[in-house]
Amino acid sequence: MSTYSTQPNALRQKTIVVTGASDGIGRQAALSYAEHGANLILLGRSQRKLEALSRELSQQFATTHWFYSFDFDTANDDEYLQLATQIQQHSPIVDGLLHSAGLLGELTPLTETDMASFERLFRVNVRSNLRLTQVLWPLIEQAPAARILFTSSTVGHQGRALWGNYAISKFAVEGMMQVLADETKNTPIRVNAINPGATRTAMRAQAKPEEDPQTLKTPREIMSLYLYLMSPEMQDTHGQCLDAQPK
Ligand code: NDP
Repeated sequence: MSTYSTQPNALRQKTIVVTGASDGIGRQAALSYAEHGANLILLGRSQRKLEALSRELSQQFATTHWFYSFDFDTANDDEYLQLATQIQQHSPIVDGLLHSAGLLGELTPLTETDMASFERLFRVNVRSNLRLTQVLWPLIEQAPAARILFTSSTVGHQGRALWGNYAISKFAVEGMMQVLADETKNTPIRVNAINPGATRTAMRAQAKPEEDPQTLKTPREIMSLYLYLMSPEMQDTHGQCLDAQPK
């Protein structure tokens, strides 16, 4: 597996917003970003899990962090704007935004897809990425070298039977990333997506209950790409979806 190297203090004094920070890959990204000096704004659904992460961050790192329980399924536009205002009160600049939150939904044939589930999945996996990026844009534009990372999947560029809703949502995320990258190509902002590959988290266990989780990489083992693409030193990659576990 290829690895990317990032300087130990590469994210020092940077403010990074992480969604899905309460669990899985987003949680590990928060810890890894703090380890590299970042101050964090953590978003998740579960207040209890966010509090546990907050305790861990406080014990391990001298960096600062704030956390908000925010449900992308139910949030309305006013709540997104209020969230952006609260974030701005902590930091007028957002140097990085990692969209890691996601739902798997039900794996069913496309012709049997329940439309309420489809719409819920799109609110969480797609609409949240766009709306959060929009409301944070004035803060992102203040950064000297902002980095925006979306999260795709192998089924976000190659459809697969039964993965309909989820796969379609990840195709949409990759499309969003490409459009935003094209719109920012003449700026210092860098926009990319990561395909984590099979990783030992609750979502993967839900997708493949028969699989032995010990055969999978842990979130910590795939962090080099998350760090590299978030680093202001990285300038050459833009509009790409990279595999965290290339074959
Ligand atoms: P987890 O299930 O471990 O974590 C999902 C995160 O998303 C949690 O923090 C969860 O919050 C949050 N979330 C879910 N629903 C909502 C919601 N309605 N509002 C706000 N936050 C929500 O998943 P992973 O860490 O495995 O996945 C992270 C990303 O990686 C996802 O985008 C996923 O699609 C992608 N991915 C994962 C792969 C894997 O093998 N693990 C492979 C390919 C892609 P809470 O815990 O508080 O409910």
